[in-house]
Amino acid sequence: MKIGILGLGLIGGSLGFDLRSQGHYVLGVSRRQSTCQKAVDIGSVDQASIDLLLLASAEVVFICTPIGLIVPQVEQLVAHLPETTIVTDVGSVKTPIVKALSPLWNNFIGGHPMAGNTDAGIEAAQRNLFVNRPYVLTPIDTTPTSAITVLEEIVRSLGSIIYHCQPEKHDRAVSWISHLPVIVSASLMAACLSESDPEIFQLAQNLASSGFRDTSRVGAGNSELGVMMAQYNRQALVNSLHQYRQNLDTFIHIIEKEQWELLEDKLKLNQQHRPKFL
Ligand code: NAP
Repeated sequence: MKIGILGLGLIGGSLGFDLRSQGHYVLGVSRRQSTCQKAVDIGSVDQASIDLLLLASAEVVFICTPIGLIVPQVEQLVAHLPETTIVTDVGSVKTPIVKALSPLWNNFIGGHPMAGNTDAGIEAAQRNLFVNRPYVLTPIDTTPTSAITVLEEIVRSLGSIIYHCQPEKHDRAVSWISHLPVIVSASLMAACLSESDPEIFQLAQNLASSGFRDTSRVGAGNSELGVMMAQYNRQALVNSLHQYRQNLDTFIHIIEKEQWELLEDKLKLNQQHRPKFL
């Protein structure tokens, strides 16, 4: 198939590698000419341009730009597409995107690969990023079955595990396991930066090891993505944060009151439940 990718960064560039290795012909469009050249040089796409028109001949187009650009970019793009073209996006938030684009394009299907890392840009693109990762699709009642089947086949070929759900449910679920962790981890970093004794501050940096690496990773990554997650999934994220704050207060109270047995019970419960999420 001829497949288009708009936005050649971590996700778009990685998709390009895997789609090409499946034998598809991949057309890439990005904002900067240097990114387009790099994507061709590293073998992520067959052809690339900064001109949206390159995507006019694609049968399926993946929109992989930052969240806030997805709707305006599709609004521009569809003027150049035949109505048979399937358009999908990879944005980390689904409700506002599906709401805006479904009335505009019958063959639009929201999507979200649950894969990534803290780096950004075409330099961060990697092969097999989506293998064994969940990939959410959010078709609506009027989405043609034929379009869903084609997209599912492509997603399955990436090695991903497909989930279907309503956009609103997706956004609530990812606010717990993706967006809340970003803000919690960002708060951890901010709290550490507030240490006022320079000697302790330096010592903490010297002693930081794997535990700090794990817990600070998502809060110190792509800031553009972090802001857009919060902006476009604001209500679900605020609800999760309030719930988190209540739990944090409970832990503070338990520790202040030296309720060690209760603390142990809570930690044991977490140990028991964590594998269900991973
Ligand atoms: P990224 O690495 O920053 O890539 C986005 C790319 O979009 C940039 O490299 C940029 O390319 C290009 N771009 C920016 N403005 C553009 C424009 N006006 N026209 C065309 N291209 C433009 O970000 P990412 O992590 O791949 O995220 C992309 C999307 O994937 C987001 O919607 C995000 O929510 C979603 N997502 C991210 C992750 C993750 O963990 N990172 C996981 C799942 C889904 P230039 O170099 O040409 O400027």
